[in-house]
Amino acid sequence: MTKRSLESLPGSALEGKRALVRVDFNVPLKNGVVTDDTRIRAALPTIAYLRERGARVVLLSHLGRPKGGPEPKYSLRQIVRDVEKLIGAPVEFIEALEPGVAVTRRLPRGGVALVENTRFWPGEEQNDQALAQQFAALGDFYVNDAFGSAHRAHASTEAVAHLLKPAVAGYLMERELQYLGAALDNPRRPFVAVLGGAKISGKIDVIQSLLPKCDAILIGGAMACTFFASMGLEIGGSLVERDRIDLAGALLKGGGQKIVLPRGATVAPTLERAAERKQVPSDKIPADMSVFDIDQATADDFRARILGAKTVVWNGPMGVFETPPFDAGTRAVANALVEATAKGATTVVGGGDSAAAVAGLEDKLTHVSTGGGASLEFLEGKPLPGVMALDEA
Ligand code: ADP
Ligand code: MG
Repeated sequence: MTKRSLESLPGSALEGKRALVRVDFNVPLKNGVVTDDTRIRAALPTIAYLRERGARVVLLSHLGRPKGGPEPKYSLRQIVRDVEKLIGAPVEFIEALEPGVAVTRRLPRGGVALVENTRFWPGEEQNDQALAQQFAALGDFYVNDAFGSAHRAHASTEAVAHLLKPAVAGYLMERELQYLGAALDNPRRPFVAVLGGAKISGKIDVIQSLLPKCDAILIGGAMACTFFASMGLEIGGSLVERDRIDLAGALLKGGGQKIVLPRGATVAPTLERAAERKQVPSDKIPADMSVFDIDQATADDFRARILGAKTVVWNGPMGVFETPPFDAGTRAVANALVEATAKGATTVVGGGDSAAAVAGLEDKLTHVSTGGGASLEFLEGKPLPGVMALDEA
């Protein structure tokens, strides 16, 4: 199912009109200063497109997790300067909704306004109709470019899209749906998924959704240990989900040859005692050690399988990549994806920690999703409310 795009709107629908644009400006702040403006930059193509066509742009976003009321540390006022610098134009700040309508009407062609944190209104997270109506009054049509918030049915992402038409997908949203969607619905084969991270529980639905679609699922991270445990292997002090061991066993039975587990692991007594680390086969994990990464043999195996694929989807690091040297396996997989991309494969990375693990390599991969939780739910095959609510193409 394809959603109506921004580009499908005729010039007359843009010229002089107020575009209400839901963006994801949920940026990290330290003492009121934006420490990473990636998310703001990600929305620039949509904003520029609208302004160039004479639209007036009214931006909506949430920031952090305020408790249903204004909290200075979560005010979007703090980022107005950054947005102005990146857009290269002044930005009107709208603190209250009703007077805000007048502000949006006064905006010049190409003018930009930023509304206060949507979560300062208690109705936002309840997907409240009345609040959505107030948001809708700020614009003449709706654009959702906040893929990272699309898995939540909130007033600014879902309800408003039913009230303000046309409701279309911005460039970032479109790109996310295109790459994630194509990988899942119509993959060039072989299609290999690489899954890692801490917990099997959060990824079960991903495994179940991907199993029938892909040709192989390579498992790394602590998640592999729950699979090892289901096979009766010693896993020492590794992170394991005891209550998911049976489930892991059932997946192995059902998944047959498709599930590829690590051949071996990099183990150490503790994360701090990295100097004592060693590489062991998966059936030789010492009882007094823990798995913190895949081993070299597994990295080589996974690399070969990734290079043999035409589509690769990756979610979840292979080890405790935040703590070198246990980042080696994750780096190896990242490099294998880069190599595969250079050879013509489609490579898609989703997940917050996974995206962090490939920071700096974005240009060498087909697509790195900006939506952590949203990309995961997409991979699980769940409909995203913020996407569903947009007009059909
Ligand atoms: P994503 O955010 O990409 O979906 P997850 O949140 O599922 O990824 O997993 C990331 C976390 O998994 C990281 O914090 C990493 O340290 C942890 N992790 C990976 N392998 C292991 C391991 N063997 N032991 C403990 N933690 C691990
Ligand atoms: Mg995570």
